[in-house]
Amino acid sequence: MLKISGLHKSFGATPVLRGVDLTVARGQVTCVIGPSGSGKSTLLRCINHLEKVDAGRVEVDGALVGYREVGGRLRELPDRVVARQRAGIGMVFQNFNLFGHLTVLENLIEAPIGVLGVPRAQARERAREQLRRVGLKGREDAYPRQLSGGQQQRIAIARALTMEPKLLLFDEPTSALDPELVGEVLAVMRDLAQAGQTMVVVTHEIGFAREVADEVVFLDGGEVLESGPPEELLDNPRHPRTREFLHRVL
Ligand code: ADP
Ligand code: MG
Repeated sequence: MLKISGLHKSFGATPVLRGVDLTVARGQVTCVIGPSGSGKSTLLRCINHLEKVDAGRVEVDGALVGYREVGGRLRELPDRVVARQRAGIGMVFQNFNLFGHLTVLENLIEAPIGVLGVPRAQARERAREQLRRVGLKGREDAYPRQLSGGQQQRIAIARALTMEPKLLLFDEPTSALDPELVGEVLAVMRDLAQAGQTMVVVTHEIGFAREVADEVVFLDGGEVLESGPPEELLDNPRHPRTREFLHRVL
């Protein structure tokens, strides 16, 4: 579902991603761990073309994201085509990014109507179904500020799901939450994984990674230093830097 090869990205003279390769099979969950500043958010932003890449390829479900190949060279796709591609790649942010002036239901139907052209009645039905899924049925008319952080993040996940994404990206989805609210969000993510949703999850929740991930990737200094099944990477890391990082977060 996701294939990244030779991905390079710099900001000015600072290299942030230095040749990242990553493959995620359909229905699999990959957790990305690594120190602050190692390029995790930039990696996610390159996947859905929120950042232009300097070199390398990102393919989602067999299609290059953001570019088309013409005579062996990559040409940027027009914005409306990229918007369409992005519609199939959901993103859940650390700070929820809900629209504060819209109700929960309005947050959930906006993109399906606006981007996919789903009829309003159908969009509302979809929204209700996803609210049920994240355990927030009945909160359609609430405003984000009336909800706890955990509830807001579950709404953000429901909103991503209304687009029926092929791939769902999470950028530290529980980092902004009070500790007692982390579990309810992880539980929703665990259910999604079990339902076969393909996901890339940047997280410091090592317990979640151990339990849910098919593969864990350790990113350090813009490079994948080590990757493997959780029982190998987390319990028996080969690279000294992976060991050092795990000692610090565990
Ligand atoms: P992480 O998510 O692992 O903490 P980031 O991908 O956010 O790391 O950032 C990696 C590096 O890239 C950091 O040094 C950060 O300061 C830099 N960076 C990220 N975004 C930008 C930007 N838009 N402009 C300049 N530098 C950036
Ligand atoms: Mg980050």
